[in-house]
Amino acid sequence: MNETALFKLTYGVHVITSKKGDRLNGQIANTAIQITNAPITISVSINKNNLTHEFIKDSKLFAVSIVAQDAPLSLIGQFGFKSGREVNKFEGVNYKLTPNGVPYVTDHILSYIELKVLQEVDAGTHTLFIGEIVGAEVLKEGTPMTYAYYHEVKKGSVPKTAPTYNPKKEQKPVSDKYVCAICGYTYDPELGDPDSGIAPGTAFADLPEDWVCPVCGASKENFDKA
Ligand code: FE
Repeated sequence: MNETALFKLTYGVHVITSKKGDRLNGQIANTAIQITNAPITISVSINKNNLTHEFIKDSKLFAVSIVAQDAPLSLIGQFGFKSGREVNKFEGVNYKLTPNGVPYVTDHILSYIELKVLQEVDAGTHTLFIGEIVGAEVLKEGTPMTYAYYHEVKKGSVPKTAPTYNPKKEQKPVSDKYVCAICGYTYDPELGDPDSGIAPGTAFADLPEDWVCPVCGASKENFDKA
């Protein structure tokens, strides 16, 4: 069996948000897909350890915010590599609430879809939440980010709780590049870090001392040679 066959599957990149009472949380997930058209239903696969899982279980509501291709890595870092148990994911992020009180991100987002849970499927480490649409809006026109684009062009990584996490793929060795020990983001001097104003061709050693990982915010000393 060749498990790299799975790398040919395509996905988007989404912020999945929910609430529990007055508390709000969100996380990144690539596994949001439309299941049926009448009624419109969508499923998401959420790790049972994640706070968003607890919130969706509680409120039976969630929203899918579809990330634009030109979104900065920091947006994915904010929702994908931090825990809502330690930080307020919405601090410094522009968002709005639906009439049901579910948050959705408004910057670098093309559209959002709000869902009410119809069914929960126990999938071992994850729960598959199947929701029926209760609201949706287009925020701006643009190209949605795909999971492949995030990996290949943005050089992003995935946390260990993601359903598609693959240790072999995440630890692929590369030369003259540096890897963040916290989140696995790879700094490639050829690409620089345009989101943070670092020009292509900038060696890791020449990055300013206050430069931080564009995904998780870790400082330079947390990077190891790849
Ligand atoms: Fe990082």
